[in-house]
Amino acid sequence: MEFSSFGNKLASHSGILHLMDDLGKAMSGHEKMIMMGGGNPAPIQEIREAWRTRMHAMLDDGAEFDRMLGNYDTPQGNRDFIAAVAEFFRREYGWPVGPENVAVTNGSQNAFFYLFNLFAGEFPGGKRKQILLPLSPEYIGYLDQGLTEGMFASRRPKIEDLPNHEFKYHIDFDACAEALDAERRERSGCLEIDGGIGAVCVSRPTNPTGNVLTDGEMRRLMNLTREKGVPLLVDNAYGLPFPGILFTKATLEWDEHVVLSMSLSKIGLPSARTGILLASPEVVRAISGVNAIVSLANATVGQSVALPFFRSGEIIRLAREIVNPFYRERSEETLSWLHEDLGDSVPWRVHKSEGAIFLWLNFPGLPISDRELYERLRARGVLVVPGHYFFGALGVKAAEDWPHARECIRIHYAMDRADVREGVRIIADEVRRAFRQ
Ligand code: PLP
Repeated sequence: MEFSSFGNKLASHSGILHLMDDLGKAMSGHEKMIMMGGGNPAPIQEIREAWRTRMHAMLDDGAEFDRMLGNYDTPQGNRDFIAAVAEFFRREYGWPVGPENVAVTNGSQNAFFYLFNLFAGEFPGGKRKQILLPLSPEYIGYLDQGLTEGMFASRRPKIEDLPNHEFKYHIDFDACAEALDAERRERSGCLEIDGGIGAVCVSRPTNPTGNVLTDGEMRRLMNLTREKGVPLLVDNAYGLPFPGILFTKATLEWDEHVVLSMSLSKIGLPSARTGILLASPEVVRAISGVNAIVSLANATVGQSVALPFFRSGEIIRLAREIVNPFYRERSEETLSWLHEDLGDSVPWRVHKSEGAIFLWLNFPGLPISDRELYERLRARGVLVVPGHYFFGALGVKAAEDWPHARECIRIHYAMDRADVREGVRIIADEVRRAFRQ
């Protein structure tokens, strides 16, 4: 069988496929694994009950349940849901948005596939544009989404050392401005730019690091992209106002050149596959057009279940009073275990935990690669994610030239508490062994 270029690009061995496959196999094996690898939201009882109560009410009503399951919505999304989302952001943030600014997708992963391929890749006349990720490490789920090769460009961050084994990444704005200005350049072994940068994308809070780009960094990014006339894609899957997994002060801003992506996944509805975009009417029309071709319509369950929570603002209460304190406490607790178990026995630091559901560990001078550490941990029943995956947009050579890119792992801190406690103990033990060998 011969696959097309599309087939070869998407159906072949991508990083995300390898990772998901490996995690899935490890989970379905016979031995018990301590799962600190995946990106599942933690099971939070009050959140489960909120969605369950709502579903009971829909079943009791009957007609609402039938409408949820029995109708195709428009490719833009469910009309009532779209109106409620626009009203929600007008009310809560004062943004001048209407239904024409809202598009729904089958999960935000799906939204990014559309957005990246709308703004980068091949353009009429043969020029090629790229998506700039201002700093790596960045979300691995972006990297294989381009329909053409070499779709992403990125730059190393500046690293701020903090007390108490902590650090924080910052955007290197000189490097980003240079990337945005470049016309045609050979870098990292691949032809980086000839049509320039088609869009800039950041996750905030960032998966994998828990970094929250500061308000100052966001403002500079907004100004820079506005000046250059390129959209700024802001992936707010963990951010405000929902699910609100954010432990630092950060402001959310939007204007028509920003595409703000949100998701119902981390507030407990990952399998409902509901992504929400706030964007200019032109982008909303484009997304709707692609949706019609690829999916006809969106999954309706998440939109129907969440609708009254947007109308009443209850979604903010769930985020603020339940989801945020849950993750904040679990993050702090896991950090205290890391300090207890690693102490000053090896060189280690953790990215300041400012949001999202992961902790990002760096072991400067680690004598083995992150991949080898992952294998050794896996053999001891602990699943983590090796960090090198998240540096992929730097290009192979640039990542290879930077030892830091092979000295990090990502751990999910919020799954079963006893498991995480044991997992941290094993990670500390294995890292100590690696440094002793
Ligand atoms: N963006 C980030 C940063 C993520 O971590 C994830 C999932 O973990 C997604 C987007 C995709 O989420 P979903 O498609 O479930 O909305």
